[in-house]
Amino acid sequence: MCLIALAGNPNVGKSTLFNALTGLDQHTGNWCGKTVELAQGRYQYKGKEYQIVDLPGAYSLVSRSPEEKVAEEFLREGGADCTVVVCDATCLERSLILALQVLALQPRAVVCVNLMDEARRANITVDVCRLERELGVPVAATSADYGEGLETLEEKVREICDGFVPAAESAEIWEASDEAARRFVLRAQEIAEKCVTMEKPSAPTLTERLDAVFLHRFWGYVVLLLLLLVVFWLTIEGANYPSQGLQWCFDRLGELLHKGAAYLHVPQKLRGALLDGVYATAARVVAVMLPPMAIFFPLFTLLEDFGYLPRAAFLLDERFRRSGACGKQCLTLCMGLGCNAAGVTGCRIIDSPRERLIAVLTNAFVPCNGRFPALIFLLSLSFSAGSSLLGAGLLTLCLLLSVFMTLAASKLLSKTALKGEPSSFVMELPPYRRPRVGQVLVRSLRDRTVFVLGRAVAVAAPAGLVIWLLANLSVGETTLLQWLASAFNAPAQVIGLNGAILLAFLLGSPANELVLPILIIILTAGTSLGGETSAQMAELLMEHGWTWQLTVCTIVFFLFHWPCTTTLLTIHKETHSAKWTALAALLPTAFGVAICALLSMLFRMIT
Ligand code: GDP
Repeated sequence: MCLIALAGNPNVGKSTLFNALTGLDQHTGNWCGKTVELAQGRYQYKGKEYQIVDLPGAYSLVSRSPEEKVAEEFLREGGADCTVVVCDATCLERSLILALQVLALQPRAVVCVNLMDEARRANITVDVCRLERELGVPVAATSADYGEGLETLEEKVREICDGFVPAAESAEIWEASDEAARRFVLRAQEIAEKCVTMEKPSAPTLTERLDAVFLHRFWGYVVLLLLLLVVFWLTIEGANYPSQGLQWCFDRLGELLHKGAAYLHVPQKLRGALLDGVYATAARVVAVMLPPMAIFFPLFTLLEDFGYLPRAAFLLDERFRRSGACGKQCLTLCMGLGCNAAGVTGCRIIDSPRERLIAVLTNAFVPCNGRFPALIFLLSLSFSAGSSLLGAGLLTLCLLLSVFMTLAASKLLSKTALKGEPSSFVMELPPYRRPRVGQVLVRSLRDRTVFVLGRAVAVAAPAGLVIWLLANLSVGETTLLQWLASAFNAPAQVIGLNGAILLAFLLGSPANELVLPILIIILTAGTSLGGETSAQMAELLMEHGWTWQLTVCTIVFFLFHWPCTTTLLTIHKETHSAKWTALAALLPTAFGVAICALLSMLFRMIT
């Protein structure tokens, strides 16, 4: 079997090529830096098997970001039978800098000029034969997104693996130095001048025209806000009925299961623990979470594919820098909107360890998808009286507050525990690309929705059992759950909450989506089957003396409290430190406690 390494600048289509060759499905997206791990796959060509490794995107093997180091070490070890250097046909000169460096280390290589379709549209012509002569290695022109040129590439790779010796220019061993880097830059310029012809466009390109609006100092923010508003509105408006429908189906199934268990003479207590505890809690989480996720994630992935996300990061870059953090943090923050654990892993795209840590520690300041349904419910409870547009507006305000607090927490960290100057980096703005709707749907449903949902159910099911036990074991007249809730009353009241909601937050630590269902179980003294509609839940809260002041404090605490267990585990995995993990839990909690305590003091003064 031959080993093929796939190298190239970020966002030139390496993952797309990898997927097209192997039939696998690595994450692709229209922005730089999403491939942070080595992906491996296999493909067959003319009866022979090839193993292919997708190296992280690198601009050069001379500068030293962690991804570039990984790529360089792999290539220096020289274990690959053939290296495919993927280049961008629309800006060949820049891609060639890396290609030349790779060829100097690994002359057994094929240069793949990808994105040929985009080059054609931009009136750029690449002379492939001339390029082959200049570089001394085989060159294949491809459009990976459309499967164009793949066979030529496979054939050229086969030739190299079968022993064809390319006449690559210089196989001299070079040391990583600025001097060496300059040599490569000049040669890339020279080759590009010989092989690329470009017709100057008479009018501004679509990318230029869209950027004039999306990156505008005023309109850019207007567009960003409007997009958020639309995404939230579609999520809220669209999720309502499917959620109710799903809950109805789960309730009917629950009744059937109860009947079946009674028929089989399953003991009453066991039936209660399994069906009212484990099943009802897991079903509730699915019913509440699935519809908003199935809407939010595809919309988010569409924006990602279109190329909007890096623009949002670019727009907010200056603000993050002023807080001593890095503009790329905005991208990890966006990922956190889906799932904080995913956002924390995504922080690997930030090169500076100090800034990466700031981004990791503050990721849970943005509400993840598990918190959205609860926030939506709480907002509709007191303020928006059923209007989903107003709800979306208020949710956008909550998000702005989260971003503001993220910046405040980042600033605090960069002035105290993580002192240092913000590093400068070049943020790559990819061209706008037409999103591939079908792929977006499949990818966001399978990679994100099912992944997050599976994780939520995995923690919700055992948590359901614990909660059922607490709700059914009694100390004297009261259940353990109620006893605990009243024990928490005094500390909870300091921060404007009550014992029941604070206990729900604590027991809901495995997954934020559990907090409201647990609250309902506490309030109904364990008699709830979890199937309440939003209106019934609202009624129940009112019966228990729920006030608008309590709603405000609960919303704030939902936004700022400790991250869920999965996120904390992920933070520990990424930082290898119990100290940083503890700080990641304490920091948002301290913000939440401080704001809620202030609010509750204010409320006491005005009422
Ligand atoms: P990587 O960072 O190099 O792994 O890049 P990806 O494979 O994630 O691709 C980046 C973006 O370019 C994605 O939106 C792809 O759909 C798109 N893309 C990749 N190859 C082509 C191509 O040949 N033509 C066009 N038009 N788009 C492409």
